[in-house]
Amino acid sequence: MVAEKKFDVVVVGAGFGGMYMLHKLLGLGFNATIVEAASGVGGTWWWNRYPGARCDVESLEYSYSFSDELQQEWEWSQKFSEGAEILQYANHVADRFGLRNHINFNTKINSVTYDESDHIWTLKTLNGETYKANYCVMATGTLSDPNEPKFNGLHDYQGDWYMTGKWPHEGVDFKGKTVGIIGTGSSAVQAIPVIAKDAKHLTVFQRTANYSIPANQQVLPPEEVAEVKANYSQIRQDARLDQAGIGRRNRAESRIFEVSPEEREAEFQKRWDKGGTGFTAAYKDILETDEANSVAAEFVKRQIKKIVKDPEVAELLCPTNTIGCKRLCADTEYFETYNRDNVNLIDINQNPIEGLYQKGIRTENQDFEFDIVIFAIGFDAMTGALKAMNIVGKDGVELNKKWEDGPITYLGLTVSGFPNLFTITGPGSPSVLSNMITSIEQHVEWISECINYMHEQQKVEIDADIQSEEDWGEHVEDVASATLRYGCNSWYVGANVPGKRRIFMPYAGGIPKYNEKCDEVATNGYKGFTLV
Ligand code: NAP
Repeated sequence: MVAEKKFDVVVVGAGFGGMYMLHKLLGLGFNATIVEAASGVGGTWWWNRYPGARCDVESLEYSYSFSDELQQEWEWSQKFSEGAEILQYANHVADRFGLRNHINFNTKINSVTYDESDHIWTLKTLNGETYKANYCVMATGTLSDPNEPKFNGLHDYQGDWYMTGKWPHEGVDFKGKTVGIIGTGSSAVQAIPVIAKDAKHLTVFQRTANYSIPANQQVLPPEEVAEVKANYSQIRQDARLDQAGIGRRNRAESRIFEVSPEEREAEFQKRWDKGGTGFTAAYKDILETDEANSVAAEFVKRQIKKIVKDPEVAELLCPTNTIGCKRLCADTEYFETYNRDNVNLIDINQNPIEGLYQKGIRTENQDFEFDIVIFAIGFDAMTGALKAMNIVGKDGVELNKKWEDGPITYLGLTVSGFPNLFTITGPGSPSVLSNMITSIEQHVEWISECINYMHEQQKVEIDADIQSEEDWGEHVEDVASATLRYGCNSWYVGANVPGKRRIFMPYAGGIPKYNEKCDEVATNGYKGFTLV
């Protein structure tokens, strides 16, 4: 019989959200703990160890700001950190702030139930343990539930297969191997150039061509690091006032047709040469109007055609949707990789995949033999990890049932009927449309202040009002529908998961407006919530 463990707060997940949440709660004197399915900290970076994995937000910004000592002492080596370095940083944070002893690793939650008589959440784990808590914080990540491959014949396939989102920690040796990869999203765009260098042959199966901007990866110049460190507090403040939570983003004030064609060409070229996803911030209206968007898209397509030598392959690699509608990728020699003799591209719209067979992938027109197949097919984004935990709130209402028609939340932080439970970067918050760490820090601070307020005011339950949740849901929908992101079949709207209700999940109104609303709610005694 395993004893029950009782805490003021149980945090689920030891990624960047969970670790800062724990640090904050311990600092306020709460009895808090983390439960984490993995055997280490780092969340997404613990799982996604595929070759080439790296962040597309610059290292100096994709890092915690809450401790000046930490940001001054940590040395990032490259402009965009590799996954392994981010993981080292996560481990450093866990050790530096003494978090590790408060984290229960290898602990996967499979039910979370609220008892309204004593306002207690009960979390049960797969290994039969029970945790009880007054508050529960879901720091379970937004891209943490990878889509399992559901291709016909997968079990007949006798080679090795891997998912980018659950990459083996011992690595994969591609030398001398024939490899097939399905998917051309951010993960694949990063993995393909690296795998191609090692493998005997790589075949890429593409369903939708993706826009990608070169990362222009480089060793961080010491003078840039020194300048940022000298101005960190201003940069972090600016990040909280930037739409996407990036302090040093050069966001243009003009609209695209206010400048001459020569001027825009020069601006796009400058951003292409600089590298990274700041490309779409060149003009205010790139994500607002089709006309502006197509000018930016055409620039990228011209670059693809300049890089890729085979005109037919270049044409296939040119996206047909609007730029920025799906998440923009940042790459290192992605398009160049298609000039290699050992790489070929299959358009599965022309030649659909029927499934796998004993030796590889079978398409309508051809059988491909592979030693290794890689599935880079994405995630059940934003809701997958939450739904997997079987959360049951007041009156026995299941979160999965409540969210059948799409996730609805109050501020992306709480769900009505699920009191004392918070989500970090949940649906309805800027989350994946922002620098995740900027958003995480704001959420953690809001949640810890809220729990502290509850404690000081001797309140035992906080629950979002249905009306506030509905109003917020409408607002999230309104701001999303005003952007071009609303229209295409992206994981932002759940279109990559068959049967998932189409709803634009993240908050597209930008960080400043969002933070202002959160602050207003808190300073008005948690307006829109009922406190018991
Ligand atoms: P993704 O963007 O959802 O890409 C999945 C790819 O697999 C798409 O090309 C998709 O095609 C294809 N696909 C899905 N199901 C398929 C099927 N049944 N048959 C054939 N093709 C299929 O997933 P991801 O690449 O893992 O990236 C997800 C997100 O994680 C990114 O958008 C980004 O936010 C984050 N991420 C960030 C970084 C970074 O910081 N640099 C790196 C990796 C990931 P369709 O487009 O046609 O659906």
